[in-house]
Amino acid sequence: MKKTITHLSDGITLIDAHYTDQGIAGIYMLVHASKVTLIETGTSHSVAYVLAALEELKLTPDDVEYIIPTHIHLDHAAGAGHLLDLCLQAQLVIHPRGAGHLINPEKLEAGTIAVYGEEKYRKLYGALKPINEQRIIIAKDGFELDFNGRKLRFIDTPGHALHHFCIYDPLSNGVFTGDTFGIAYKQLANSNNDFIFPSTTPVHFDPDALLESIDKILSLQPKYIYLTHFGMIKPTKKNVSQLTQCIKTFVTIAKEEKNPIEDRAKRIEEKLMLYLLEQYHKTQGNASLEEAKKLLQMDCHLNAQGLDIWLKRLAKKENSPAISTV
Ligand SMILES: [Zn+2]
Repeated sequence: MKKTITHLSDGITLIDAHYTDQGIAGIYMLVHASKVTLIETGTSHSVAYVLAALEELKLTPDDVEYIIPTHIHLDHAAGAGHLLDLCLQAQLVIHPRGAGHLINPEKLEAGTIAVYGEEKYRKLYGALKPINEQRIIIAKDGFELDFNGRKLRFIDTPGHALHHFCIYDPLSNGVFTGDTFGIAYKQLANSNNDFIFPSTTPVHFDPDALLESIDKILSLQPKYIYLTHFGMIKPTKKNVSQLTQCIKTFVTIAKEEKNPIEDRAKRIEEKLMLYLLEQYHKTQGNASLEEAKKLLQMDCHLNAQGLDIWLKRLAKKENSPAISTV
C-alpha cells in the first residue's frame, strides 16, 4: 500500500485519502484516551486507508467515537456512510445545513453526477450510503463536543459552503479548517513558504463571508491550521495575506470577466491559472511550473465554476427590487 499516514503532535495523525492522487485530500485521526475521532472521511475509496491507519495504531473500528466531515462536499463526506457501517459505536457530527443531505443523499448524488457524469463520479467518489438519523449529532455555531475529556469547539464558517464548520482543538491549539482556510499542497511549498490559495468551488462561494470566517479562525490565535488540502501549516502574516489577497484577486478577475456571459467560466479559469502560476513563480516552490500547472488544473476549473455561479447570484440580487417583502 502507498504511504498513507503522517504522525503530527498531540495524538493527531494525517491519513492520505488518495483522492485523485496522493497529497490532495486528507483525513485527520485524533486519538485521545484510546478512542478515535475522525475529521473528514474522504470518499468511499478512502475507507481502506482509514482501516489501515487504525490497524497501524493498534486500534479497531469499534474505537471510533466520532466522525466529523467539515462540510458535505464529497471529497470530505462521501466516505461517511461507509465508515459508519464499519464503526458501529461511532456518531456523525455535522453542520445543521448538511444533515438532511446525508440522511437522504439522492439529491447530493444526482447533483454531483450532473457535474461530473456517471463514470467520473463513480471513479472519484464511489457511491453514497444514507446515514441513519439516530446516529447524527448536529453541531451549531459554538457547539462543544466532549471527546473523552478533550473538548472540540465548532465554529460556523460560511464562505466556501453554507454547510461548513471548522473545529477548534484547544489541546493542540489548532483548527481543522476543511476548505475555509484555502488549499496549500505540499508539492508547491518550499522550506520557507506555503503556496496557499482559496477554494471557491460551487455553489455557495461568498467572498465577504469567507474573509469573515478566516478572521474568526485567526481570532482564536491558533498555532496550527490543519488543512484538508493538504496537511498542517502554521498561520503566518505572509501566508494569511497571500490567502486573503488571493480571494480579492479572484473576485476582481471574476468581475472583469462578467460580460459576456457566454464562455465566462472558461475565461475566468484561464485568468485564474495565469494569476496562480505568476504567484507560484514568485514563491519558488519545489515543483516546476509545468508540474504546478498540472496540479492546479482541477482547482482552477472548479474555482472558476464557483465564481461564475457567484456572479449569477450577484446579478440576481442587483436586479431584484430593494424593497423588503417582510
Ligand atoms: Zn474539499
